[in-house]
Amino acid sequence: MHGIPSRPMLTDLDLYLRFDGYDELKPILAGTDEDVLVALRKPTLIRIPGTETHPTVRFVSCLLHGNEDSGYRAVIGMLRNGDHYPFDLWVLIGNVRAAHQEGWFAHRYLDGQEDFNRTWGLAAPTTRMRRCSDAVFEVLRELDLEAAVDIHNNTGLNPYYAITPDPTEDALRLAGAMADTILRWPMRAHTLMEVLSPICPAVSVECGLPALEENHAYAASALRRFLRLASFEEAGAGPRRVFEMQHRIVVRPEVRFAFGGVLTEDLDLVLHPGMDHYNFGMVLAGTELGLVPPGAAMPLLVTDMRGRETTDRFFELHDGSLIVTEDVTPVMLTTTVQQTRRDCFFYIARRRA
Ligand SMILES: [Zn+2]
Repeated sequence: MHGIPSRPMLTDLDLYLRFDGYDELKPILAGTDEDVLVALRKPTLIRIPGTETHPTVRFVSCLLHGNEDSGYRAVIGMLRNGDHYPFDLWVLIGNVRAAHQEGWFAHRYLDGQEDFNRTWGLAAPTTRMRRCSDAVFEVLRELDLEAAVDIHNNTGLNPYYAITPDPTEDALRLAGAMADTILRWPMRAHTLMEVLSPICPAVSVECGLPALEENHAYAASALRRFLRLASFEEAGAGPRRVFEMQHRIVVRPEVRFAFGGVLTEDLDLVLHPGMDHYNFGMVLAGTELGLVPPGAAMPLLVTDMRGRETTDRFFELHDGSLIVTEDVTPVMLTTTVQQTRRDCFFYIARRRA
């Protein structure tokens, strides 16, 4: 068995917590989902040994964003069942602190932390979170992984979908096993699935809004599918819609803005609420996204996946109206100022034939 003790004397300097098998996990899992977070306190890596003599290895992660509870609840539910699989299963529970400090599942990441899904594979691990990412990746890299899945929620209305950073045929099959909508997204954003993509099929599953029973159920069924999949050849044969991520839209950092309401002297931009209904659909050219005061300059900044500015292609201001100038498919369009600041307003994708 592995020589690393499953629960060493934990100090604040340990980057993450490690368990081998169910023995020491069981008493922790007896509590509520929230109790488990308090007991773990920090990122947690778990290995559930497989039943085969020479098991393959699969990996699942959740809670890289502390406010996204669906995948976490699915993973904890799965662990409570106490099952073993033909393969070794490795589990990462990500930003445990952000999930239980200052309210339950209240923060994607805490003030003073980085986004835990932007700290993977960076050259110089200058921060604690980057060192943690490096340490976990060192372990994963040695495992001969067969497949990896990372479970997330969105902050706006979106269909359930799967993201492949590297759309190999195996990755598309794995994605297609868990969602009928697939987003090809060459992020270069230092996400966990990006660093695993050269090693094995690696897919993020997006389970709609957090804190909703039906979305927890979807996360649980996607996880169950991942664990029961005998091979990737049997996966993802059904119809699927494939989109490719192309542009990213942010509100310029100096612009003060709100969703809904009227323009006041404290606001430089009011965005219309409810636009998230268009996610993975179509916003037609000429649609008004929001309002700016007379004389204000373009408050949005658009860049393509290589970082080149493309704002003029998609937006214009006309008599204080912020207008879309080309038909676009928005994805992950959010409805909160905080999420707009912490990630972006939305992305533009294109349906692939
Ligand atoms: Zn997320």
